[in-house]
Amino acid sequence: MPAVSQVRNDWSRDEVLALFALPFTELLHRAATVHREHFDPTEVQVSTLLSVKTGGCPEDCGYCPQAARYHTGVEATKLMSTEDVVAKAKQARDAGASRFCMGAAWRSPKDRDIPKVAAMIREVKALGLETCATLGMLTDTQAHALRDAGLDYYNHNIDTAPDFYGEVIHTREFQDRLDTLAHVRDAGMKTCCGGIVGMGESREQRAGLLHALATLPAHPDSVPINRLVQVAGTPLSGTALLDPFEFVRTIAVARLLMPRSMVRLSAGRETMSDELQALCFAAGANSIFHGEKLLTTGNPDTEHDQRLFERLGLRPMHVASADVASDCSTTVHAAITGEAA
Ligand code: SF4
Repeated sequence: MPAVSQVRNDWSRDEVLALFALPFTELLHRAATVHREHFDPTEVQVSTLLSVKTGGCPEDCGYCPQAARYHTGVEATKLMSTEDVVAKAKQARDAGASRFCMGAAWRSPKDRDIPKVAAMIREVKALGLETCATLGMLTDTQAHALRDAGLDYYNHNIDTAPDFYGEVIHTREFQDRLDTLAHVRDAGMKTCCGGIVGMGESREQRAGLLHALATLPAHPDSVPINRLVQVAGTPLSGTALLDPFEFVRTIAVARLLMPRSMVRLSAGRETMSDELQALCFAAGANSIFHGEKLLTTGNPDTEHDQRLFERLGLRPMHVASADVASDCSTTVHAAITGEAA
């Protein structure tokens, strides 16, 4: 087996499956070793995300409470005004944020939306913040327009394995996701791209998700690994829960496959015990979302995260470290440390 910390884009699915099949402690040891080769394992990047347009989405992603067709109690909102977004960005900056991520529940932005989002990006950038957005699928022209406005990062998840995609989403194709990621890369922006596990997929399909990420032309700068948040009213509500050890394995394999990427615990963290999160950090996760809301689902509160960091001897990653392999969203150090970054 080649040195696991080598950055490779030619993983085979069998190799990925073989990593999943390692004895648990051996897998964690290998992942922790690779983590240390590229990062300080005591540092965790802390991020927040602002939903600038919530709900009412025409897509049918089976996990998502923002899809208009599911009755989940999420109220659709219009695109926030630039003024309101800038006010939130200022709050984040004053709390120590270095990067600000704006999310909109769109299949894809309409061309007429681009100047509005571009204005937000320009004004957020003028505050001295790095900018990130997640707006759905982009055309090449839209990607360049956002880049020209100053967008640094674009989040676009591939969701799940290519061979499970049709079980979860019927309103777009897996290839559509790859096309948008190519437009983002071609425009010169950094990518934030991961997926969701616990949607009823098999281990082979979890391996397929990670294989698809690790064989992209360039590894995503940031890899959010979400655990399904089961929301009543969505088709995936009631799915059998994923074995927590299998979730940790997924984190560890992601770390081994993409050694220089930020591997982020994202949605689903509020249902994880402190012990499970600690195992994930030991397995190479080095980024979290925090705050009371993660788009429309809950997230552990800041004080709880602060206590967990103290108990584990972890500290928020500083910007200079984060820039080595950055993630896509607002980085807030102050909220978790109680002081400005
Ligand atoms: S995940 Fe995104 S694209 Fe899918 S329904 Fe939700 S908001 Fe729409």
